[in-house]
Amino acid sequence: SDPRNSPHFRELDEKLRKVFKLQRFRPNQLEAVTAAMEGRDVFVLMPTGGGKSLCYQLPSVCEGGRTRGLTVVISPLISLMKDQVNALVQKGIKAICSTSEGQNTNEWQLVQNATLWYLTPEKLHSSPATRNLLTNLYKRDKLARFVIDEAHCISTWGQDFREAYTYLGFIRKDYPNVPIMALTATANSKTVADIVSQLGLCDYASFSQSFNRPNLKYFIRKKEKKNHLAEIIETIKAKYVGQTGIIYCTSRNNCERVAQKLQESGLAAAFYHAGMQAADKDKTTQDWQNNIIKIIVATIAFGMGIDKPDVRFVIHHDMPKTLSGYYQETGRAGRDQQPADCIMYYSYKDVADLINMIKKDENATADSIARQTEAAKEVYRFCENPVTCRRVLILRHFDEKFDAENCSPSCDICESPQDAQSTDVRKAVMNVIKVVESFDNQIPGITENQLQDIMRGSKRAEVRQRGWDNIPQYGSCNDLPPPLFESMIHKLLLDDVLAKFAVRNASGYHTEYLKLGDVKFPAQQEYIVQWRDRSGANGS
Ligand code: ADP
Ligand code: ZN
Repeated sequence: SDPRNSPHFRELDEKLRKVFKLQRFRPNQLEAVTAAMEGRDVFVLMPTGGGKSLCYQLPSVCEGGRTRGLTVVISPLISLMKDQVNALVQKGIKAICSTSEGQNTNEWQLVQNATLWYLTPEKLHSSPATRNLLTNLYKRDKLARFVIDEAHCISTWGQDFREAYTYLGFIRKDYPNVPIMALTATANSKTVADIVSQLGLCDYASFSQSFNRPNLKYFIRKKEKKNHLAEIIETIKAKYVGQTGIIYCTSRNNCERVAQKLQESGLAAAFYHAGMQAADKDKTTQDWQNNIIKIIVATIAFGMGIDKPDVRFVIHHDMPKTLSGYYQETGRAGRDQQPADCIMYYSYKDVADLINMIKKDENATADSIARQTEAAKEVYRFCENPVTCRRVLILRHFDEKFDAENCSPSCDICESPQDAQSTDVRKAVMNVIKVVESFDNQIPGITENQLQDIMRGSKRAEVRQRGWDNIPQYGSCNDLPPPLFESMIHKLLLDDVLAKFAVRNASGYHTEYLKLGDVKFPAQQEYIVQWRDRSGANGS
């Protein structure tokens, strides 16, 4: 039914304009607030910047429907909570927030008069006084609604998993008559199911919309051997003069180094990572929000709750850990709906390093290691794929179908589809395996580069000196273009057909040698490697 015909429409529309000073509803907002007014549980899945907050803030200031009383908002980030409360207070709305950072003695007083109460999940979980307060309000029928913001934090499937969220199931049990609204910007079907069951949502109204961010352009670039930071700096100076951006790095060290290089080349940049003092982090964020710093170089610690509308570029200096993370991080660009660019650099080394890091985590279960490894491989495959539109793949990750014809403004794949190649390399792989096998158990063994020399028939002195030109398979991969050969070896490594082992020499250096992996190569099947031919031979 058309929410414009609901008895609540007049009040909602009036408060939208008078209190929030907004002209019209964005997609799904009116539907969600109407369901809330009817007292239903509501699930809102909306991309970042879509306008989730209004979905619970607007009903909270209405008189009609099932909305009278206090709206309790569970939110994971203190800084975000404070920003929201400030903005609400400026609109004349009685909003307060409590963090776990200390007991507010007049909390009781404040809460009695409040319209919206923002709380961290930790506070709700660990403070008996808070729970007593809620129970008291509940008994007097003064609780209008519970709102679970960033609800995906409840799910161990996502990278933002937050332990205190897993206790939120008590809300439905202890306050069964109070409607719940859950909101998130990232949830595939598994996460949605997790949220619904853990919160105990029932007969809920569900609103979701396409996750496509039509104003974002996606470019994925393989790191070339030379320093790709120089290329990043060139790009910024050529395309994004004076514009706001974020550069994501995997490690804290990289953050600091990259920020310094940017500064040295005259760009207004600063770094941000979890190893910094809270005050420094706040200052950096403030300076960025206030345009004193234009470019923030950060780990993934930076981002959730960042609401700067005019971010024109997000650059990944290193490959991200998961596709969901990639979507969220790039999602911070272009929240003002104006065009913005997302550029990611990746390499096989990035994914190999990530997997090593994942395996080293001593607190992780085997299950979680396997899951994280698979997630990292998924990102690598996403990058390596030369055929399918980036948007199609990103959205498929969220179980959304998307037609590549609608990829607009575009992605690197759709811009030059003629570069896409796929080749069956079964024969070449058989030869590679024979060579690697022949070096098995040999000291020193062969490295990836040496294998390449042999297979491609290199004339380097070392090859002749060591007699490798007498190996029957010497030069047998001559006809494969270098990018194809490289993609093939990396695919074999990720598929565990080949593996590496490290040996430390006398001076403490690690060298990685090749050996056969745990998976037997399926010689009877095609082994298709997809790659991009940038030689221009295919016309462009
Ligand atoms: P989300 O939480 O979904 O990322 P927010 O609730 O922070 O998004 O809203 C993003 C931005 O969009 C905010 O600046 C907000 O004021 C603005 N906004 C929300 N709803 C509307 C609307 N109906 N019309 C215009 N702007 C809106
Ligand atoms: Zn595309």
